[in-house]
Amino acid sequence: MANDRESFSEKLRVPESLTFDDVLLRPKESRVEPDAADTGTHVSRNVELQVPVLSAAMDTVTESEMAIAMAREGGLGVLHRNLSVGDMVAEIERVKRADELIIRDVVTASPDQTVREVDEMMGEAGVSGAPVVDDSGVPEGQRDDGGAVGGEVLGIISGTDIRPFLEVGESDEVREAMTDEVITAPEDVSPREALELMYEHKIERVPIVDEGDRLVGLITMQGILQRREYDSAARDGEGSLRVGAAVGPFEADRAAAADDAGADVLFIDCAHAHNLDVIESARTIKEEVAADVVVGNVGTREAAEAVVDFADGIKVGIGPGSICTTRVVTGAGMPQISAVAQVADVAALEGVPVIADGGIRYSGDAIKAIAAGADAVMLGSYFAGTDEAPGRVVTMNGKKYKQYRGMGSVGAMQSGGGERYLKDVEEDDDMVPEGVEAATPYKGTLASELHQLVGGMRSGMGYVGAETIPEFKDRAEFVRVSQAGQHEGHPHDVVITDEAPNYSPDGS
Ligand code: 5GP
Repeated sequence: MANDRESFSEKLRVPESLTFDDVLLRPKESRVEPDAADTGTHVSRNVELQVPVLSAAMDTVTESEMAIAMAREGGLGVLHRNLSVGDMVAEIERVKRADELIIRDVVTASPDQTVREVDEMMGEAGVSGAPVVDDSGVPEGQRDDGGAVGGEVLGIISGTDIRPFLEVGESDEVREAMTDEVITAPEDVSPREALELMYEHKIERVPIVDEGDRLVGLITMQGILQRREYDSAARDGEGSLRVGAAVGPFEADRAAAADDAGADVLFIDCAHAHNLDVIESARTIKEEVAADVVVGNVGTREAAEAVVDFADGIKVGIGPGSICTTRVVTGAGMPQISAVAQVADVAALEGVPVIADGGIRYSGDAIKAIAAGADAVMLGSYFAGTDEAPGRVVTMNGKKYKQYRGMGSVGAMQSGGGERYLKDVEEDDDMVPEGVEAATPYKGTLASELHQLVGGMRSGMGYVGAETIPEFKDRAEFVRVSQAGQHEGHPHDVVITDEAPNYSPDGS
């Protein structure tokens, strides 16, 4: 050799890297029933979830509807960034307001409107009652949108006050038909106190007022009961649903706007975060925001070492995604189970959570990722076929599908996604895509998909005898599976006659 670099042949003495199908969890003695398994975890240093699952930051997976559904079920939706900064802020605000106890844009009536006018107005707004407010002190421009919030509450009018069989005529004024002994509450009322007031006075809505009896908002019984249904929801300190937002590695303005809007976790969205410019920029973003910052994607020990000192979480995945062509286009990538384990070796020492992103087809894959050291998993294709994902259902050959595309596909890059792949895409001809555009079977509600996913993960914890995620990560051991073993693990030598809710041969 002319110099002291290793020989080319040496390079071929390669370490083995494994992925989901290469391994299985070794069953262990257990007293843990799946239902007793606690899936609580950290997704980033300061954000805990009851369900260790995230929906991917992709324009065919997560917008506000998905993020609301994910957070209600205990997981986290990460908004994609093929949205203008303004639209992303609006999406974050939509999630934050979704389960707000106090409704702020209240439909109000004024005392001198006629009963007919108010009846029509409530019908159009889809509400069955409205506080009656003296809006004379409220500036003109504020009266329509959001009603006369800020005006003094004089009474409350509901459908039952104005039905024709009662003694008010359609052209009577609201002041004659309303209930004027109105029960109100201050802004800091708790859900329990509000509910007690409602039961005591047999009412369904309580106007919230300030010290001057001016309207601030409204609490409804329906709103309180709806919140109770979601007992493991991911909520911030104020009770609003949690939401994540993807930001480009060089998008300091988007990061600041998402942070100001209340995003709980920012995800630096890059296909190769072990790029030194990306790390520098991510570090600066982290210094400037209050939200937690998850850095990704990475796939090696060295990459984890380069970000672990400032990241609040590390996301792993170089090329495992179902719609991803990075490995065939660039020749680079890391099989996902080994990648997760390498990153987790570094992150665990610093208490930084790890998210396994991509390639998960079955609940078994998800729990294997956690056994390999992840604290949570992120999925795209698994959720893209649900009602809550953006896009409509299309029918092909009698079967229902929804669109699902890689953020590095031509279509997604045309909509603004090129920066994730560190590409400056001006002309279509310049594009070197790293993803494909596809369709995925339509699957119904997110709640039922998530139920199957988390149910399978809990059962995996039962097989290993672990009650909590940290205990599971400690106890879980892998065995290596041969190709014959993989074949044995799927239904074989039979013809499937009825579809199972959590299995299809190709993982779709
Ligand atoms: P899935 O759950 O569908 O297997 O993978 C989803 C993940 O794939 C996303 O969270 C993201 O990390 C990654 N991804 C999304 N779009 C693309 C793409 O076009 N190319 C590559 N390489 N990865 C993608």
